[in-house]
Amino acid sequence: MAFEGLSEHLQRVMSKIRGKGKVTEADVKEMMREVRLALLEADVNFKVVKDFVKRVSERAVGQEVLKSLTPGQQVIKVVKEELTELMGGEQSKIAVASRPPTVIMMVGLQGAGKTTTTGKLANLLRKRYNRKPLLVAADIYRPAAIKQLETLGKQLNMPVFSLGDQVSPVEIAKQAIEKAKEEHHDYVLIDTAGRLHIDEALMDELKQMKEVAKPDEIFLVVDAMTGQDAVNVAQSFHEQLGITGVILTKLDGDTRGGAALSIRAVTNTPIKFVGMGEKLDALEPFHPERMASRILGMGDVLTLIEKAQAAVDEEKAKELEQKIRTATFTLDDFLEQLGQVRKLGPLDEILKMLPGFNKIKGLNNLQIDEKQISRVEAIIRSMTKEEKMHPEIINGSRKKRIAKGSGTSVQEVNRLLKQFDEMKKMMKMMTNMPKGKKRGLKFP
Ligand code: GDP
Repeated sequence: MAFEGLSEHLQRVMSKIRGKGKVTEADVKEMMREVRLALLEADVNFKVVKDFVKRVSERAVGQEVLKSLTPGQQVIKVVKEELTELMGGEQSKIAVASRPPTVIMMVGLQGAGKTTTTGKLANLLRKRYNRKPLLVAADIYRPAAIKQLETLGKQLNMPVFSLGDQVSPVEIAKQAIEKAKEEHHDYVLIDTAGRLHIDEALMDELKQMKEVAKPDEIFLVVDAMTGQDAVNVAQSFHEQLGITGVILTKLDGDTRGGAALSIRAVTNTPIKFVGMGEKLDALEPFHPERMASRILGMGDVLTLIEKAQAAVDEEKAKELEQKIRTATFTLDDFLEQLGQVRKLGPLDEILKMLPGFNKIKGLNNLQIDEKQISRVEAIIRSMTKEEKMHPEIINGSRKKRIAKGSGTSVQEVNRLLKQFDEMKKMMKMMTNMPKGKKRGLKFP
């Protein structure tokens, strides 16, 4: 998981200062020495680290006094604010041209994830913002790049504009924009040619394309795993081409995080999106504050809620609420709920978004056993309709049959029945609660 080392290190430092009723200058100094080390270990640019430490130290010593926080907590608040600022402060929005289509040039070195990200971005624009993008295959140099984009287009059921690899990329862009106008596409995403290294020919071609396509955004796609190299690439591209935003890919890998924390400060361009996996829905808008919160172990409830909203069918959620309220929730409904939770993504990633989760003893390195959920599902599937509706009829011999049918044990069947019983009791309790408090009860 990205930022793991940094996150652990910073949280260790913060826990020392959190409870302090009085924070002296020496305390701050001691803390900042550790923070500096943590950032350098995470491969953050040394100048960025130096500035960061200076700013936090100044603010932490002469800070405004808030009654609701202890001095220790106030120092942590300063660290979080500065970390957020370092990554760009506010979340930056994607441009919308006053006269459509909005043209976006996707640039980057080979292997950074440019073509995949072009597909992901089109998917996000359609899904989240209800847009109608046209994908443009203008990477005529990397063998198979055109085919790759066409395959992505098929998967997404989205049109891809291509003129093969014998027409110049500038001409392709020109014709694509014309076509987008004719066919009323509101976004044009141009997958430009990458190279293994930055070279003059590449930059010249991109500059020409910029001239002709007059893009509203130029997004540079960089691989987070390459650390400070990613920062250098961003700086070069920015100097020569003037990029408007960075998309950082492979943040799902175990990058130390240096690129995410340095790019904004070094290049003065914001990170707009982050790639969190190979699948087409694994692109997220980048929220500096939420990321700072995740790094400091304060959770990221907002992203979790958004994921839940995207994955869960609203209608189904309402139906479920009704069942809970009338206490007619069955094991079949439970089975469906498990499926819903799974749609949110790998469980250990989800749990990390809960505030304080990583502070629970012994859960730090917990590998959530996804197989366990499959076993629960298998148990429920081995029950008869009658048993699922009225689990109280499940006696000893039925339990044996269910365990056998699901390849589990009687103990596991017992455990599930007990959990389900407790869940129903909880639901009864909630049913008696005032209405407002029942909201959000989507995942029993
Ligand atoms: P391009 O040469 O820049 O166009 O790179 P590609 O789009 O072909 O991507 C290179 C590889 O990186 C592919 O195997 C992608 O699946 C993978 N990739 C792209 N983005 C991500 C990401 O966010 N996470 C992970 N794990 N892999 C990614």
